[in-house]
Amino acid sequence: MARVDEARSVRGQVLSLLRDRGPLARIEIARLSGLSATTITRAVNLLADEGVVEEGASISLAKLGRPATELSIHADSYFVVGVQIGVGFVQLGLIDVLGGSRGTAHFSYDLAVPASDVVCQAAESIQSLIADAGVDRRLVLGVGVAVPGPVDAAGRRILFPINLDWRDVAVSDLMEPILGVPVTVEHNVRSMALAETRFGSAQGAGSVAFVYLRTGLGAGLVVEGQPFSGGVHGAIELGHLQVIDNGADCVCGSTGCLETVVSEPALRARAAELGLDGTDNPITAIWEAAGTRADARDSIAAVITPLAKGLSAIVNLLNPEVILLGGALADVPEPFFERVTEETRSAVFPLIRSSVHIDPSSLGMDAGVIGAGAVALDRYFYA
Ligand SMILES: [Zn+2]
Repeated sequence: MARVDEARSVRGQVLSLLRDRGPLARIEIARLSGLSATTITRAVNLLADEGVVEEGASISLAKLGRPATELSIHADSYFVVGVQIGVGFVQLGLIDVLGGSRGTAHFSYDLAVPASDVVCQAAESIQSLIADAGVDRRLVLGVGVAVPGPVDAAGRRILFPINLDWRDVAVSDLMEPILGVPVTVEHNVRSMALAETRFGSAQGAGSVAFVYLRTGLGAGLVVEGQPFSGGVHGAIELGHLQVIDNGADCVCGSTGCLETVVSEPALRARAAELGLDGTDNPITAIWEAAGTRADARDSIAAVITPLAKGLSAIVNLLNPEVILLGGALADVPEPFFERVTEETRSAVFPLIRSSVHIDPSSLGMDAGVIGAGAVALDRYFYA
């Protein structure tokens, strides 16, 4: 058993290095992993026989004095399916082992429909997605499901999403008998943070914070390369940080939470008060009006200042290498990011101000699906 585990761990190390640093020669993999050349050669040969790694160009390694063959991961060797369950919508994607999308599907659902029906419908959609893509089912290793709320420690159930009337839904138990492959469940924003470090602009970064704005405002962290699960339920409630004294009532029962001013419903209401159409992206609508209207400029300040306050809390506590903003924040005008960065910097501890980097998500609206896929790949391929 120990030998099997050891071989599995070497395999995972080789694949992770090739994903983050590849293509690499065998000798470079040995150096970076600290494992012996013999161990690496044995692992690489097995992976090559399986069709998971492929040999590429012959390169000359100066230190070696002779040519070595570069290895890379064969993207089509296996697949996973990523599913993002949102409030009233489900997005699905067939994902290759390098995070590439090989087909997508989506459906919306009525919030009154029982959770188990939505989960089973997602499983049926996965079947069609795989069939439509013409991928051999035996190459599908598993499914990752990103959900809008806390999950159990085993990663099989969604516990109690605050913006969805679901309670303790056994997602994996419902889907596995239909699909015949393992299903793992993860908090949506945490999986987005993971996707950015595995396949996005933060690839290889040790620490990343992802902030996602839709119905609510959520945050997810990757710490030392791994998704960070804090507290009893593992979710970071950035949206419920109290940022406004005597503020409006929040769904959580408190008042003045960040989410009461920075969430799609709050921003749409603000756009409507200004007589603007905020259906598409309320922040962009308000930002554009701010060019000529003082009341819209006040509204922008009333959004950016509390948001920067929330982000500065993340920076002061964790000082991540980068903060990525996703969901409705992913495609707002560039100067909005400059303002948010500036205000966040001024609110953090002076010594770490220059280390604050805030960028839009590089995966955009696909972050949830690729994130769910990244969780499944971490568990079933790169483990
Ligand atoms: Zn709240």
